[in-house]
Amino acid sequence: MPKPRILLLYTGGTIGMVKNFETGALRVFNFKKLLQRIPELRQLDCDIDTLSFESPIDSSDMEPTKWVKMAGIIQDNYNDFDGFVILHGSDTMSYSASALSFMLQGLTKPVVFTGSQLPIGDLRTDAKENLITAIQIASLNEGGQPVIKEVCLYFEYKLYRGNRTTKISAEHFNAFTSPNYNALAESGVHLRVNNEQLLQPTGVDFSVTTAFNSNVVIVKMFPGITAAVLSAITAIEGLKGIVLETYGSGNAPTEDWFIGILQKAIEKGIHIVNVTQCSGGRVNMGQYETSTLLKEIGVISGADITTEAAITKMMYLLGQEMLPERFKPLFETSLCGELTQ
Ligand code: ASP
Repeated sequence: MPKPRILLLYTGGTIGMVKNFETGALRVFNFKKLLQRIPELRQLDCDIDTLSFESPIDSSDMEPTKWVKMAGIIQDNYNDFDGFVILHGSDTMSYSASALSFMLQGLTKPVVFTGSQLPIGDLRTDAKENLITAIQIASLNEGGQPVIKEVCLYFEYKLYRGNRTTKISAEHFNAFTSPNYNALAESGVHLRVNNEQLLQPTGVDFSVTTAFNSNVVIVKMFPGITAAVLSAITAIEGLKGIVLETYGSGNAPTEDWFIGILQKAIEKGIHIVNVTQCSGGRVNMGQYETSTLLKEIGVISGADITTEAAITKMMYLLGQEMLPERFKPLFETSLCGELTQ
């Protein structure tokens, strides 16, 4: 059987940087020399091709046009490769992995995001392990068929579903977690895949959707939020959606002014999605009186979705032509494993 072919795409971030030990400055690594720098890659049982963004970016500069670029590269190379590894800065990796999971419909091959906390040239780097194992995961196959058929994120010995992740540390190598969904695989002495956690293909043909609408905002609730602030946000010209980070299982103030502003916004056609600001657990509107009113005025339940997946799903759905009444049921449905219904 031929070796799996893996396409490695560098978009930017620390993982692709090396330090000039005289000046201490970080510069982007020449990916054409990848195999020379990391000879261990030759031991992998796959063929690796590399591509890089012409101007690699710090992932703080990530935005939808770059998602479209990544998805386009995957689409153009889809038939020629068995798996894709995207090297990306860790800061917004969860947003990009979520966005790509919605854009790449009918995926039957792995798309593995990875990065690192320390540059690849650093003595104590976490980049090598992350890179090598991400490539190994992308080449896993059974009887010639890829084992992983979804967008995922590999970091510090764990493979997660990408749209379930969130970055939790700017310091530790263990920088990501998936609070509401178990890891897809764990790397120890053996690479163990949790088969029951994997997304199964729906049978639809592979296609890429590229339209996003960025007229959205994330509002995090805090005790003391004022009517002036909230009404200014909902009055933003062209605003189409709000991800509202509420307390606990989806709770928010019951005061008339608060509910009134949200109700007016919904009547104007702004979609409001309720997500919890807790790091784990789910929204359950109606469990407490403090969320019953939200449910009554038509706020959408984000269930156990992360904020990163909620905002990208909102931008993605708003980018599609659909009747406004289709938005709520679609948001509340799992499109690619991003929430538990
Ligand atoms: N600021 C960097 C980025 O997200 C950090 C990293 O590479 O992990 O691009």
